[in-house]
Amino acid sequence: MTPQSTSVYVHIPWCLSRCPYCDFNTYAAREWPEDEYADALVRELAWFTERPPFDDVTLGTVFFGGGTPSLFAPKTIERILNELSRRFRTGPDLEVTLEANPGTVDRERFAGMRAAGVNRLSVGIQSFQPRLLEALGRRHSVDESRAALQAARDGGFDNLSFDLMYATPTQTLDELEADLREATEIAPEHLSAYALIFEPGTQLTRDVQAGKIERATEELEAQMFETVRARLADAGYAPYEISNHARPGREARHNQAYWRGGPYLGIGAGAHSFSPTTAPMQADASDGVRWQNIRDPARYRAATETAGHAIDEHESLTRTQAMGEFCWLALRETRGLSSAEFEARFDASLADAFGHVEELTTEGLLERRHDRLTLSPRGLLIADTIFASFF
Ligand code: SF4
Repeated sequence: MTPQSTSVYVHIPWCLSRCPYCDFNTYAAREWPEDEYADALVRELAWFTERPPFDDVTLGTVFFGGGTPSLFAPKTIERILNELSRRFRTGPDLEVTLEANPGTVDRERFAGMRAAGVNRLSVGIQSFQPRLLEALGRRHSVDESRAALQAARDGGFDNLSFDLMYATPTQTLDELEADLREATEIAPEHLSAYALIFEPGTQLTRDVQAGKIERATEELEAQMFETVRARLADAGYAPYEISNHARPGREARHNQAYWRGGPYLGIGAGAHSFSPTTAPMQADASDGVRWQNIRDPARYRAATETAGHAIDEHESLTRTQAMGEFCWLALRETRGLSSAEFEARFDASLADAFGHVEELTTEGLLERRHDRLTLSPRGLLIADTIFASFF
C-alpha cells in the first residue's frame, strides 16, 4: 500500500536563547549557517523523494518547527517550499505552518513568509503576564507578543494560532483567567494550551529538584485544565484534542495527520519520521517504521553530504506496538477511537486486542458513543496513565 498523502516536518534548530523548560533539539545562537543548512534540507528531500514511500505521494501539510523557524529569512523558507513543490505533488489546499517567536518578527518578515507560501502561523506566546514570562525564561516581553500577533495579521495571515502555557510555578487561577481573556479577545483561529511539563534534564526540572521552585499541585493543574476548556469553549474554540482548540474548520491538519497514524517525513537535525507501510531502510514494514535524524546540526549537514540522508536510528514497530499507538493517538482527539477503523487497519477486533478497554469504560474513564470511544471528563485528567495502558 502506498500512502496517498504525506506530511513534511522541517526542523530549524536555533533559538536566540534556550528556555529553561525546553527539551527540544535546539541550540542558542546569534548566527547560524542558514544557506548551508538549507542545502542539507534540499539534499535530504532529494534522497527521500527518490525512494518509497515518499516517491509517489501527495503533500498534504508542511510544518516548519523548531527551534525558532521565524529566525530564517523568508527567501530561505521560500527556497525549501519551492523544493517541496518540485519534489511532491501538491494540491490547492496545502497547509503550510511556520512557528514564530515574538521578538524575531515584524510585519515585513511575516508578509515575506506569507508571500513565500506559508499560510498558517503558530506563535509562541505562553502568557500575557510579565512575571510568568520571566518565570518561564522567555526572552520576549508581553508588548513584543502583542506586536507580533498584530504584525501577523498586518502581514496577511488569516490562519493564526498561538500557544499558552499553564500550571507554571506560582501561577494563580486569576492569572490564567486573564491570559484566556486576552487570548480570546485577540481572536486567533486556533489556540493551543499546554500544562508546563518538567522534562528530565531541563533547567526547570533541576530547579524543582533543588527546591528552588515548586510545581503546581495536581489539584490546581486539574482546575486550570478545566478552566482552559470551559473558557475557550465559551469563546467558540472547540477542543478537538487534549491541548488544542479551534474555530470550526481551523483545526491543525498537520497534527491531525500525526494523531491519525499518517506518514510524515521529518527533515533537519534530529527530526523524526514515520511510515505506516515501508521505509528506505525497511521495504516491508507492515506495522510501521519510525526513524530519527542525527541531532547535532553540523554532523547532520555532514551526513547529508556524504550519504544524502542523516538517518541515525530506526525502529520497526511490532504489531502490538502499532495497535497500541493507534489507540492512544486516536484517544488524544475529541472524536476518539473508532473500533471499526481499528478493525479495518489491523483486521482484528479492538475488544480482543485490548480487553481492558471494557474496564476503562465501566470505571467511567472512557465513554462510548456509537462506534467511538472517547476520554471522559475524568479520563481527560489522567490521560497519560490511560495512554500508557496501551503501551
Ligand atoms: S523558544 Fe521554543 S524551541 Fe526555543 S528554547 Fe524556547 S521553548 Fe525551546
